Amino acid sequence: MTTPATALDSALTRRTFAIISHPDAGKTTLTEKLLLFGGAIHLAGEVRARGANRRARSDWMKIEQQRGISVTSSVMTFARGGTVYNLLDTPGHEDFSEDTYRTLTAVDSAVMVIDAARGIEAQTRKLFEVCRLRDVPILTFINKVDREGRDPFDLLDEIADMLALDVAPLNWPAGMGGEFKGLYDLRSHRFLPPDGTATGAAGEMVQTSGLDDPQIDNLCGPIASRLREQAELALGGYATLDGDLYRAGALTPVLFGSALKDFGVEALIDALAEFAPPPRPQPALPAAVKPTDSQVSGFVFKVQANMNPQHRDRIAFMRVASGRFRRGMKLRQVGTGKTIAINSPILFFAADREIADEAFPGDIIGIPNHGVLRVGDSLVEKDDITFTGIPNFAPEILRRVALKDPTKSKQLRTALTDMAEEGVTQLFKPAIGSQWIVGVVGQLQLEVLISRLEAEYRVAAGFEPSPFETARWVSGEPAELKRFIEEHRAAMAEDRDGSPVFMARDAWELNYVSQRETAIRFSATRERA
Ligand code: GDP
Repeated sequence: MTTPATALDSALTRRTFAIISHPDAGKTTLTEKLLLFGGAIHLAGEVRARGANRRARSDWMKIEQQRGISVTSSVMTFARGGTVYNLLDTPGHEDFSEDTYRTLTAVDSAVMVIDAARGIEAQTRKLFEVCRLRDVPILTFINKVDREGRDPFDLLDEIADMLALDVAPLNWPAGMGGEFKGLYDLRSHRFLPPDGTATGAAGEMVQTSGLDDPQIDNLCGPIASRLREQAELALGGYATLDGDLYRAGALTPVLFGSALKDFGVEALIDALAEFAPPPRPQPALPAAVKPTDSQVSGFVFKVQANMNPQHRDRIAFMRVASGRFRRGMKLRQVGTGKTIAINSPILFFAADREIADEAFPGDIIGIPNHGVLRVGDSLVEKDDITFTGIPNFAPEILRRVALKDPTKSKQLRTALTDMAEEGVTQLFKPAIGSQWIVGVVGQLQLEVLISRLEAEYRVAAGFEPSPFETARWVSGEPAELKRFIEEHRAAMAEDRDGSPVFMARDAWELNYVSQRETAIRFSATRERA
């Protein structure tokens, strides 16, 4: 059975995507402008201002300011010209790669933002590799052409060489920095000049008949001939846009632009509508789930606690994979078999939360809950399906949490459990002893943890070294596993779900034990079954 035509039509209008970039390339600015052009906000600056308001009383801002990074992650939805865009924000720091990785499991495509002066940077490359693993197609936005940047050909060749992708430029900059005269659209021949004011913001689009049009001379002055020469070379030298190659992850369409000055932003929105894939089938057992499957199903890729510090709410972000979701529906949590009535699902229109009456494949809904829903959960209307590929990563840093005020141990427990549910940290209960151990993938997560404990839970805490440095999930035949656990009791712990974890003093010990114990599997990632 398939979904009724209207639900399918609605799914086809969805573009669910994320922006990947290296810090400072302009992701925040581009996000603001996408929302602005999408009509979702009315003043540039609102994205940041709201975030600041929301956390004005916490230490988050300090971390963000000191480190110059953005640590929030959210979903923003906007509509334009019949297309509904779901933009999933990915935290921009490498320490959050786990969270980012999981967010990328919920998108159908990505926009890669590159600074025209810097080209491909370390973090862009890492995130690109994650996208490639999942065949997520990528549109490239080369930002900041209003500033001096590298030669456009250089930048395109770097993308092609470093990422092993075909590149298909969609527009071309007439000069950069002080010489910048505007953008020429290689397909529609439209030219976007600055508005002539001191701000240098984008002006009115001019339709030309092509590169030979004398209007180009008026618009570009002394660099008209350079634009003609370069654009001809680009048209001849690079791939032309092939939507199928792009959607297969083999080619990236490239737009030059300036998020700050509004150049290329509308072109990016249009390119997403024109080429980016609508909801794709999602990997699952027993079989991949197609958006056209009739039953409602989805998976939780993120849980966020305390989005509003006044209410101790916890929101699970579910990507709808199939069917037409309606408010009040009951969905079953696969695994526990618990049924959850979803009476106030949230849609994320711009920065405002709205109650959703219905949602379609590709949409993200927020489900308020009291800790029942976890990252990796599959939710279904009727038949059990388990979505795969939403991993937990083995922690690289293990610490004991030391309370400064021993009467706060209950609050500490609650706080640690909440954060573990969000996927910010992992929580392990040692088989021997009573002190919980937290595990994180990167140092910054520890700092975030401490400041959130204070700001959101009023718990003053610090960290003590734990005797262990690394951990692995262990599995095997029941008898073998039982023997292993008994023999290594002092190094065993359980994660939140009660799965056995072996903790090692260092990499050498882990290596030694894992080579001897051939009947036991040691996993650095774990997918919730
Ligand atoms: P993020 O770290 O990737 O989110 O980057 P931001 O959006 O915060 O931008 C980093 C810096 O680059 C800020 O100072 C922005 O004002 C600036 N910036 C962003 N886009 C542009 C652009 O198109 N042109 C210029 N000149 N500066 C930009």
